[in-house]
Formats: sequence, structure tokens, C-alpha cells
Amino acid sequence: MKTQIKSISAESLAEAKEIIDNGGVVAIPTETVYGLGGNAFDDEAVQKIFQVKGRPNDNPLIAHVHEGYDLSKIIDYDPPYAKKLREAFLPGPLTLVYPSTGKVSPYVSCGLNTLAVRIPSHEGAQAFLREVDIPIVAPSANLSKHVSPTSAQHVKEDFDGKIPLILDGGMCEGGIESTVCDVTGEIPVILRPGLITREMIADMVGACGEYTPDFQAKEKVKSPGVLYKHYSPRCQTALYTVAQIEWAQRACAHSIADGKRVAVLAENDMLPYFKGENITLLNLGKTEREMASNLYELLREAEKVADVLIAIEPTKQEGVMVGVLNRLRKACLSVDIAH
Ligand code: AMP
Ligand code: MG
Repeated sequence: MKTQIKSISAESLAEAKEIIDNGGVVAIPTETVYGLGGNAFDDEAVQKIFQVKGRPNDNPLIAHVHEGYDLSKIIDYDPPYAKKLREAFLPGPLTLVYPSTGKVSPYVSCGLNTLAVRIPSHEGAQAFLREVDIPIVAPSANLSKHVSPTSAQHVKEDFDGKIPLILDGGMCEGGIESTVCDVTGEIPVILRPGLITREMIADMVGACGEYTPDFQAKEKVKSPGVLYKHYSPRCQTALYTVAQIEWAQRACAHSIADGKRVAVLAENDMLPYFKGENITLLNLGKTEREMASNLYELLREAEKVADVLIAIEPTKQEGVMVGVLNRLRKACLSVDIAH
């Protein structure tokens, strides 16, 4: 199969719709990362997404719809605070998890009794979702465990010859996946941190919890995706805090002495600690938005230029940085937490 990258036009959207209507998958841009989209009502299309990505079959998918889509077609329970969150933050990088109604394919939720729904704000994503006018499941368009894609080229690196079409909507501005927030209980609870922060949600509706999976508990983990090693570059990785900077410098020196190619990923102000001819410096940036937006691009760069990635946790660790750190820590895990 030849994989084509096409910019978004009436013609490429019509082609994408035809692929979707025939049970195929299409990569689409969103404001967070690129997604691998398929018809949420179609069992085979949904299963194809798991198969193409190599995704574990207990990690559920998010259904994406356009701004004008009638949500009552796929959900019924909708507490007033969820409505408030939609008005405040959607379309945008926030996914809401509702009790499921069994309307979409059972493969979407992987046995959970909930359905995750998102309304992306990216113009290209909206145009595509309007064109198909059905819920589209769209996990990040990367091979499972690999770094998420923030450009059409990244998608091609992982799926060349495996999918027919990548709609090119440019670089994703957000850079990390959506905040996933459970709205099945009395207050919203964040399952995965992202650009819409816990503080922003609490400011809007008065309270917001944060879920940490209990590995010992008998109940099902609420969001299995939070467990896995993820987002990982294909090179050795080591993560240090700013307080451990001397260890990081020593690790660099040892790796170089061993003849390895070394890259250092750090926020702008920490890079001067790593000057050296044999080191590739990957500048995460200065602001939290820059760091979110640059993270995946730089992790993909790291695996191309280095055998060993030394990463330094950014100094600021609140707000949007909770999401950035969450991804960075998973990217640098050496093993899965659970499987
Ligand atoms: P991605 O595949 O990168 O788009 O990530 C989707 C994330 O949403 C994963 O962490 C999933 O575990 C999570 N997710 C999807 N559906 C649900 C659901 N029904 N309940 C909780 N988390 C979900
Ligand atoms: Mg993903």
C-alpha cells in the first residue's frame, strides 16, 4: 500500500471520507498530536486500529466528534458540571469520560463501562469530522510505545506502507495528548494530565480530583493507558532532576568515553551545563507551552542522533508541566509498570 500525505482540501477530505466509509483508517491532525482515525461504529475499523498500532487490547480509544455533533447520539448521562467544562474548554484539548451507552463498537472501550469523547479544535480535524459526521476513534498515530507524532512526517515514519492517507495539517501546536477527565462522578477527576490543567478545571467548576491507579486493588484500572511505558525514543534513556545535574554530567562523560553518541534534552537554562563537542543539545524551550509543543519532536530527534539520551526534568513542575513531566517520565521508563 502506498501512503500518501495530502494537505487538507475538499478533494482530500472526500477521499478520507471514502476510506473511512469503507472501514479503513486515515491519519488526521489535531491540536494535540496526530491521530489514527477510524469509524467508532465499525467493529472491524476499530480492531484494525489496534492491529496497525500494535496497541494492547486493554487500552481504550477516544471518540472524536465535530463541534456541531449531537452528543446524545453516543452518551446520555451528562452532569451540569460536564456541560460547563464543554462550554469553557471545547473544542480543545480536553477529553471527557462518560458512562457508556453501548452505541459505539464495544472494542472502543475495551471492556470499561465508560466512553471517552473529545471535540478537537484544530481546523483540519473539525473539517474532517464534519465531512464524515460520525464519531471517529483516533489514538495517537504512532506505533504503540513509540513517541507520539506532531507532524505528518512523524506519522509516515511509523506507518509508511501501512495506511493509505495522512491528512497534513502542519505541526501540532499543543504537542502533548489531551487531558483525560472522568465526568461520571460527583466531581471531575483527571485520569491523564494535559494542557487543560487541574487548576483550570477546578476554577471553572469548583473542584477537580486526580486519579492515581491502585495496582493492588481488585477493581479495574480506570484508564489503562496511564500504566504503560509510552512515548519512548528508540535509544537508551536516563532522566535526572535539576538537583542531580552532576550525576547527569558524569553519565554524559561516561557514555562519551564508551564511544556512544549522546544527546541532552533540557529546558533552555539548563543546557549550558552540558557544553561539549560530542553532545547534541536538544532545547526543550523556556515557556511551558514551548516545552509541551517541542517535547515529542525532540524525543524523535534524539533517537535519530543519539545512542543515549540524558534528559533533565524541567524546574517548573505545576500546571501544564504536570502533563509534560508525565510524558517525559514515561518516555524514560526502562520497563512497563504493568502489563
Ligand atoms: P491515545 O491512545 O494516545 O489517544 O490515548 C488515549 C488515552 O485515553 C489512553 O490513556 C486511554 O487509556 C484513555 N481512555 C480512552 N478511553 C477511556 C475510557 N473510557 N476511560 C478512561 N480512559 C480512557
Ligand atoms: Mg498514544
